[in-house]
Amino acid sequence: MRYLPSWLALLAACAAGQDLSVEEWEPRSTLVVEEHLVPRAKFPVIDVHSHHRSATSPDRLDAIAKEMDALNLAVLVNLSGGYGERLRTTVRNFRGRYADRFAVFANPDFNGIGTPGWPQRAARQLEEDVGAGAQGLKIFKSFGMSIRDPRGERVAVDDPAMDPLFRVCARLNIPVLIHVADPAEFWVAHDSRNERWLELKLRPRRKRSAPPSFDQLIAERDRMLRRHPDVKFILAHMGWQGHDLSKLGKLFDEYPNVHVDIAAVLYELGRIPFSGREFLIRYKDRILFGKDSYAPSEFPYYWRVLETRDEYFEYYRRYHAHWRLYGLGLPDDTLRHIYWKNALRLIPDIDASLFE
Ligand SMILES: [Zn+2]
Repeated sequence: MRYLPSWLALLAACAAGQDLSVEEWEPRSTLVVEEHLVPRAKFPVIDVHSHHRSATSPDRLDAIAKEMDALNLAVLVNLSGGYGERLRTTVRNFRGRYADRFAVFANPDFNGIGTPGWPQRAARQLEEDVGAGAQGLKIFKSFGMSIRDPRGERVAVDDPAMDPLFRVCARLNIPVLIHVADPAEFWVAHDSRNERWLELKLRPRRKRSAPPSFDQLIAERDRMLRRHPDVKFILAHMGWQGHDLSKLGKLFDEYPNVHVDIAAVLYELGRIPFSGREFLIRYKDRILFGKDSYAPSEFPYYWRVLETRDEYFEYYRRYHAHWRLYGLGLPDDTLRHIYWKNALRLIPDIDASLFE
């Protein structure tokens, strides 16, 4: 090599993989440790955070039910129920075929929010949707970020227009699963210090540069939680505070009506095997299993983090996390709460006979 001209040496170095981009660098682990793959959850599971199209065909539902059996997924909660006619179609398709395996949540119709009469109309619609079989209300993240009133003003998460809707939830005793904000890193500079650099490169539209800030959204959310102590809230994605469990713990201590799901934030729990384990044990009544995107091959990563004490194993979505995961080895009692007990307590009309 030392007899080659320098540009030729450079070329040879590139060919040997010495000039890689960060996206190309995927080092294998040389660590030799015990591995315990968990294809099937130890106890039956209610996935409280799933999305399926209203028109899912009977054949597709049969296939999903088979996949669920293999994973020990007892119940999937379809959060994309819609409202009105679409809600009725979703309930008919899912509950009509497998009443015990699927639950359906309604979504508010935000058209016309900010105009007179909307709060009462939305409340009436929800009542009708619950009458048609909806078992909860899901509010998508567009609420608080992109939904605007007719004057073009952003509708805040604690807007009083939502109060009648929440009063219906309290009266009918149905939970509200709400997604507020996004990972905090989406609001900070997209540079070499950003933990979600790769995601923001691949999905640039997720970057947030205009108001509201992450902190403002969380403050609005907390004011909303305070105003409705009789509504059972489930904050999606650990309220995007899985990276700061002391804050989340304070939230739980302050608001007994607040719960979280762990959908799509496995990478946070999997990097804190000690404090994460303590947290889940301590707040086992407040944490529910959720997955978000329905992909059968990805559920076993959750089982492995929650159930085993495996070390330093791969995660399935590199743009969420460039690090590897550790198992928390949760006790059976904690697992049962996260997997099904809390969901069974919060969501009406789930068949309790599916669980021990
Ligand atoms: Zn979701």
